[in-house]
Order: sequence, then structure tokens, then C-alpha cells
Amino acid sequence: MTIATQARFKYGEGITLVNESGEAYLDGVSGTFNLSLGYNHPVVVAKVQEQVGQLSHMSSSFTEPYVSEVLDRLLDLAPAGIDTGWMRDITGSTANECAVKIAQKSTESTDVVSLFLSHHGQTQFATGISGNAFRRKGFPNSTASNHLHVPAPYCYRCHYKSSYPGCGFQCVEAIADHIQYGSSGSVACMIVEPILGNGGNIVPPPGYFQQLRKLCDEYGMMLIADEVQTGIGRTGYMFASELFDIQPDIITLAKGLGGIGVPVAAVLMKSRLNVLEKHEHSFTSGSNLISLAAAQSTLDVVAQPEFLDDVKLKGEILGSLLNELPSKHKSVGDVRGVGLMWGIEIVDEDGAPDVRKANAIIDTAFSDQRLILRGSRYGYGNVVKVRPALVATDDEIAEIVERLDAVLQKVG
Ligand code: PMP
Repeated sequence: MTIATQARFKYGEGITLVNESGEAYLDGVSGTFNLSLGYNHPVVVAKVQEQVGQLSHMSSSFTEPYVSEVLDRLLDLAPAGIDTGWMRDITGSTANECAVKIAQKSTESTDVVSLFLSHHGQTQFATGISGNAFRRKGFPNSTASNHLHVPAPYCYRCHYKSSYPGCGFQCVEAIADHIQYGSSGSVACMIVEPILGNGGNIVPPPGYFQQLRKLCDEYGMMLIADEVQTGIGRTGYMFASELFDIQPDIITLAKGLGGIGVPVAAVLMKSRLNVLEKHEHSFTSGSNLISLAAAQSTLDVVAQPEFLDDVKLKGEILGSLLNELPSKHKSVGDVRGVGLMWGIEIVDEDGAPDVRKANAIIDTAFSDQRLILRGSRYGYGNVVKVRPALVATDDEIAEIVERLDAVLQKVG
């Protein structure tokens, strides 16, 4: 039986989901990493309810004042130099497409550089610029020639069999080679996830993004930080761009911005990139008032300085508990992450990726321990993700790892 057919959940609170029989499950991955404030956070619920009672939607011809309020708030919190934005998207996929359009229009260039193992969404273009070949299979329009998929810093299993820092960033040299010899010569942007999320929770080494920034400046490309997973406090910082000092030209947000899973997205950028006309990128349900209310109230909670300090502390607790697992279980080959965004790499006795076991761990966590985890179909597909909502308590974090430990005892 799969997780989907087993479960019919009726109620949720914090990081707990309760099914029809009253059984409680711990959600170790915040839905699809989007419930930044968990299930039914009272501040967001109250604001959304109030908004629904007043006015749930109107034409985007009239929503500008509401959009501005949320954007002003986001821009106050954004890294230096990011000072304008666009909020007509509903999903991360189209927010990324919006960012690429902005880059293409402002540079009058076409090509998009993205990284192997990256994920930028599932609309056809977003699939095309994602570095996960299996999702493009069967969809010829998503494999246009002006998408360059180039290596990521996959340190634990480096493609060049090197290790940091001795490697001298061979992976970045490879990106430069691809641009020089593989592009049309008209490159608009490079899009990167600060932490490769679906690609295996890969945290790049220090200095990596500074190398990419240099490359972007050299080739006149815009640097887009896809913060759909990493943004809104997930790493203990409002934006992971701050943590890694990425200095992007454009930042995209979705998932966690809606707090309790309300769909909303945003594109933030340097003011000179404010080039789009409304008719060039907007959607019927974009700048929806319920979405904006959810975003505003989510920011009310997450932007409290003590809230993010707390996420950092909880991240340290989660990281140190997970880091105890490799000494207890041979099947845990690597543990990596930051803040509340972690992944454990599952390996066989020879240290090779073990996808079957990773899947068994996720299934057993659900059936035996009532613990919800998610895997990754990308790359080697052997990473089990642990990313509780930012409101998880210390005890809940300990409980997640305790249950995972029990599962590894059984399966590993
Ligand atoms: N970028 C990243 C990094 C993502 O993880 C995702 C979704 N998993 C997307 C973009 C696409 O977002 P959405 O599903 O809201 O279209």
C-alpha cells in the first residue's frame, strides 16, 4: 500500500496531521516543504479568514496597493541591492519563468544556464531549465537548445573525484567551459538553488557562489537565486542568499511564503531590472487577496528576529541529532544541511547509493512510526529529506530523529 492510499487526513496543527481514525502523524517535511508555519498556524488562519470575509479576489487591475504592501515588507527584509519586485505568480514554476523573462528582456539575450540536479518547477519551460533529465523525457519542447545544464558542486560524490578545497572549483571551470563552447553566445542568466533541494540537499562549499557571481559578471548574465525552497526562514535566515552571500540579481520565492500552504509566489530584483509590462507576465489568480494576506501574516511571524534565531538553534539541534546517525547505522553515508533543511544519504554496504533502502525507510517511517518523510528522485535518488516546519518544537525535532533512528534500526 502506498502512503497516498493509506492516508486520509482530516486535521492538522503545528507539525502534526491527524487521520480519520484519530491517529496522529508527525510531518517531518512540512507538506512539500511549503508549510513553513505548519498546519493551521493561528496568525495566518485569522488573517486569511478575515480576508475571505471581506474580499477574496478582484481583478489585478485593482490589487496594486495590496501587492505593494507585501512587496515593501519583503524588500525591507531582502539582501542589499534587491529593491523592487513582481507578485503576479501563484507558483514557484512561473515565478522562475518570470525571472528568466526579466533576465532575457533586460539583457536582450536568450540562453539560460542551470545546474545538473536542479529543480525549478514543472511547467514546460521550468522543466526545461531544470537539471533533471527524467522529467523532460517525452516532452520535446522542454529540451530547447538554449538551456545549458551544467555541473553542480556535488561534493560528496564529486563528478571530478576531487574534494574541496583542493579541487579548486573544477565544477565552476566546467560551467565556464559550457558557456564558452556550448552556448549560443547570448546568455541571459544563470539560475541556481542556494541549496540543491530535490537534487539531494546539497550544500555548496564556501566560495562557490562568489565564483558563480564572478562568472555572471564576466559574461553579463543575471544571477537568479531560486529560493522557492530555501527562502522564508528555512535556513534560519529570511533568504539563504544572505547566509551564502550570493548577491543575486533576482530572487524567486513561493512555497514557504504562504505559511500554511496558501499558494503565492514573488520575484524580487534590482530596480534596473524592472522591465516587464503587466501584459507580459500575469495570471488570472495572481495577486489574489487571500494569497497576499497569507504572505503578509507569514512575514509578520517569520520576520521577528527572535523567530529566526530560534530556527537557527533548532537547526543546530536537528543537525547534531542527525549527525549521530552514521555512527549507529552503516546505511547513513552522509548527513548534510543547514537550518531546518536536512538530508541523509542512504548507502549500501559498499557505500554506493541505495535507492531501494531509501524508499523502504520512507515507507517504514510512515507505516511503523507515523512519521512523514520524503525522498528524492533526482541524481542517485537515495536522499531522505528531513525538513520540519519552522514552528517545530525542540521535543518534536528530537522525536522525529528518534523515530527515524528506530526505522533505520529495522530497515538499515
Ligand atoms: N523551485 C524549487 C527549488 C522547487 O523546489 C520547486 C518545487 N518543488 C519549484 C521551484 C516549483 O515550485 P511550484 O511547485 O510552486 O511550481
